[in-house]
Amino acid sequence: MKTLLVAAHLLKLDRIVSRTDHLLLVVHSIQAPVRCPKCARVSSHLHSRYERTLADLPWQGIAVQIKLQARRFFCNNESCAQQIFCERLPELALRYARKTLRLNEALQWIGLMIGGEAGAKVAAELGFRVSPDTLLRRIRAANLPVMSTPKVLGVDDWAKRKGQTYGTILVDLERHRVVDLLPDREATTLTHWLKQHAGIEIITRDRAAAYAEGARQGAPDAIQIADRWHLIKNLTEVVERFLQTKYSDLQVAAKQNRQQPVTTPTVVKAESKQLPRTRLALWNERRQARYEEVRRFWQQGATIKRIAEQFGMHRRTVRMFIRTESCPERLKPCSRISQLDRHLDYLAQRWAEGCHSAADLYRELLSRGFRGSQSLVRHYVAQWRSELPPELKRARRGPGTAMPTIDRKKLLVPSPRNTAWWLLQKQENLEAEQQVYLQKLCEASPEIAQVQQLAQRFARLVRERKALEFSSWLEEAAKNSSPEIRGFVAGLKRDQPAVEAALKYAWSNGQTEGQVNKLKNLKRSMFGRAKFDLLKARVLAAP
Ligand SMILES: [Zn+2]
Repeated sequence: MKTLLVAAHLLKLDRIVSRTDHLLLVVHSIQAPVRCPKCARVSSHLHSRYERTLADLPWQGIAVQIKLQARRFFCNNESCAQQIFCERLPELALRYARKTLRLNEALQWIGLMIGGEAGAKVAAELGFRVSPDTLLRRIRAANLPVMSTPKVLGVDDWAKRKGQTYGTILVDLERHRVVDLLPDREATTLTHWLKQHAGIEIITRDRAAAYAEGARQGAPDAIQIADRWHLIKNLTEVVERFLQTKYSDLQVAAKQNRQQPVTTPTVVKAESKQLPRTRLALWNERRQARYEEVRRFWQQGATIKRIAEQFGMHRRTVRMFIRTESCPERLKPCSRISQLDRHLDYLAQRWAEGCHSAADLYRELLSRGFRGSQSLVRHYVAQWRSELPPELKRARRGPGTAMPTIDRKKLLVPSPRNTAWWLLQKQENLEAEQQVYLQKLCEASPEIAQVQQLAQRFARLVRERKALEFSSWLEEAAKNSSPEIRGFVAGLKRDQPAVEAALKYAWSNGQTEGQVNKLKNLKRSMFGRAKFDLLKARVLAAP
């Protein structure tokens, strides 16, 4: 409990002096009995008095100084080497300190929570007189909480400097706490840490060889679990590489798909003009489902980038979903949407033909009697634009200029990356057009059909943790004609116990990635200049 006067049972307040910019509390010590610090014998033999000035917690935003009359005593113990001693007031301040203990604690807390630069600004506002450097010293001096050794440890890397140097984060998955940061991601560093923290039973990690090796050396008895997210991600990359070698099949399938009646799946057309609300409700329903799924992935620790990739959404939208407490309803007046209704078929057709300029489309619609605004058109095609491959999204055109150097037909071929994602998705999660495209693709190439079948099975057995089906899958996949798939199989076999554990145990590294996100935010708040020890202190002190 904090009292107005610090260590009130040891001090007597003589008077309060109001100075222009601070309050001065004049106090003297009434501590009794007083013991010699060397021999601990009680002494009441006063030698002299002296003055100490200590900064204390501010009062109402006004700095407070304590002017303390302290005492020196004789030690009456003849066999003691200390003849004269200053009385110690350990509850008030350390021996030569110029700040009270509670002031130092408050500064340390501010430093750990807000950091040096920002902390100093906040502190100044509250009446503390402190420089950023002092706060940094307080952070460094902090006694970090002693963490008990976790039973289930999540291991992941984090970028100390983007793409250059990496550190390792260690998370207690049961207590949901960061237990330590390591300065690099070398196997030996992890080994060393694990040896000092015996008793870890389960280690979840990504599929980096260094962590596998470090865990094997440092905690040979622990069960290693490969991260399921990374398993799927690795597979997707493998399928993407495989599809890069099959680009002509992608072109064929895309072409056949175009010959189908153009359906633009994100457009939910009103059956009749009398029912615009229903259409809006439908839209919002789909949006709600998507919103909930995004939130679920986020809570499981997926990064924004991953979610955006997973759902083919723009990162901005993902971020918006995560930030908002409930699904943002689409509130656009229906009458304005219905302005476009008559023109949707035309719009979709022109889009499919490769006209992706909202300005051009708007002009064309005007000539067909459209009375809405350009921003309405822009808003509408934004959904379609978000589904384009990245090289196309950036291809903006000035008014009236032809699309330069880009073969429109070629651009309508989905990228191997998008195709790989779709191949791994559950069919029911795909838009109708994507499903048709995949169907055409598998018809065009039996090899792709086989890879899809293998990839689907693997994704399912990972998602649903079907450990028993794994070995038969491995056997079949090993026979596949694609070197990419066979390479993936070889990698799985090298890491087989950890992969099997991933199918057996529910633990995953999702939470660890969530902690990496927190760490990134903290690092950003330190203007990216965070020294490793400061960052570590703040991460470990975080509540
Ligand atoms: Zn003594």
